[in-house]
Amino acid sequence: MESPILNFINGQLQAAASGQWLVSHAPATGEAYVQLPDSDERDVEQAVVAAHAAFPAWNALGREGRSDRLMKLAALIERDLEKFVAAESRDNGKPLSLARRVDIPRAISNFRFFATGILHFASESHMMDDVAVNYTDRQPFGVAGCISPWNLPLYLFTWKIAPALAAGNCVVAKPSEVTPMTAYMLSALCNEAGLPPGVLNIVHGLGPKVGSAIVSHPRIPAISFTGGTKTGAEIARVAAPMFKKLSLELGGKNPVLVFADCDFEDMLKTTVRSSFTNQGQICLCGSRILIERSLYPRFRDAFVARVKALRVGDPNDAATDVGAVVSEPHMEKVLAYIAGAKKDGGTVLCGGERVKLAGALANGWYIAPTVIEGLDNNCSAIQEEIFGPVVTLQPFDDEADALRLANSTPYGLASVIWTNDLKRAHRVARELKAGIIWINCWMVRDLRTPFGGVKQSGVGREGGWEALRFFTEAKNVCVRL
Ligand code: NDP
Repeated sequence: MESPILNFINGQLQAAASGQWLVSHAPATGEAYVQLPDSDERDVEQAVVAAHAAFPAWNALGREGRSDRLMKLAALIERDLEKFVAAESRDNGKPLSLARRVDIPRAISNFRFFATGILHFASESHMMDDVAVNYTDRQPFGVAGCISPWNLPLYLFTWKIAPALAAGNCVVAKPSEVTPMTAYMLSALCNEAGLPPGVLNIVHGLGPKVGSAIVSHPRIPAISFTGGTKTGAEIARVAAPMFKKLSLELGGKNPVLVFADCDFEDMLKTTVRSSFTNQGQICLCGSRILIERSLYPRFRDAFVARVKALRVGDPNDAATDVGAVVSEPHMEKVLAYIAGAKKDGGTVLCGGERVKLAGALANGWYIAPTVIEGLDNNCSAIQEEIFGPVVTLQPFDDEADALRLANSTPYGLASVIWTNDLKRAHRVARELKAGIIWINCWMVRDLRTPFGGVKQSGVGREGGWEALRFFTEAKNVCVRL
């Protein structure tokens, strides 16, 4: 095994107070390859003390001082890009090419975006004719708790800590225990970037121990969480009575609405991507494909042919389209959903089983990209988030029927519309119950836009000014004229 991952507290790399370790696996081979600290509330307490001690000086550095250091951190990740790319792929099972194209560049952009954004962040003033002027003073609140999932490890981790730090807060963060490696590598760069000790603290370990210690800590007044809806509900249960600020980015069951008048080739190519990128483990993946009935047979045949041609394989191989899913329990969960869908009367058009690769990859966790049709809209494969390489196909009759199906789950994160009818595109976008709508595209991201979901997909928005507002408290100051 490699030398162990360590916590990063007050600028020091250290083991957990318990002296205990957890093990992280490489999904491509199923091998245990590195240990990480099995931390608990003692480590979180140390991190909170360090963060509070660091806060006054970090805040006093001012926007430019903080911006400089975050830009430096971005430059250091860029310098070590290939190391980060290899580590992310190994830890998560995603194709190396995806980590190189998306994950690590986006982590770099997150730092640059908020490091420069804070220089332009301004607040409002409200004139009351001749009576008074009000201005909004936006101040950091001290220490933010940031908890992130395993699917886009460094990408989502930095999406939270970058705005928190830029706004002037110090951070106690927990990456997913399933994919801790790149957060650890980031911690090793903080001192070099000139981040004062205690500004960013990273505590590794289990959600119910470390995550819940962060959420329930009385000196952490704000929690930014991305993960499953059930975990989000538990976090809200604990944090709400403490009156903490909460940003919850939760699960999705995103519909893709394909109208017969769409640009078929463009739609087909993009829908294969929106279904199976990162093994379907992106909260924004379109997992329910709704197709206008007149187009259904053509779509199904062409789509299944494309999906069958996807190469499941070694994440290190440039020719691989689909890598390993993140863990054995997750693979079992996805396979159980497929079995359930068959029981519910679904027809598996392709995939549907574990893929056994040869040699060193024989024990890796691979699932063939799976397409299922013929399911009732109420069954669990359609209503619940599977978060794997599985999509369902459903025909619809008209716009109203499409909207009824699209809006019928408890989730409301993203939706995709494929049509060349401009008026319909806008009309349907307004009626969809989701926080993010893509028309004739998918995963086109402008970091200035509000990001988040409705219904059980979350509370609050990330991105752009929304994030900087979340990580500051607004105070109205009224001055008599
Ligand atoms: P989880 O909810 O299981 O875990 C997310 C994080 O929370 C992990 O760090 C986890 O630690 C931690 N955690 C678990 N229990 C608690 C607790 N009681 N208190 C505090 N923290 C806790 O999600 P997954 O990691 O399985 O990620 C997949 C989910 O994330 C999917 O549902 C997906 O849709 C969602 N997601 C949402 C996005 C969005 O922007 N809306 C984006 C990406 C993913 P540990 O790893 O140790 O369990």
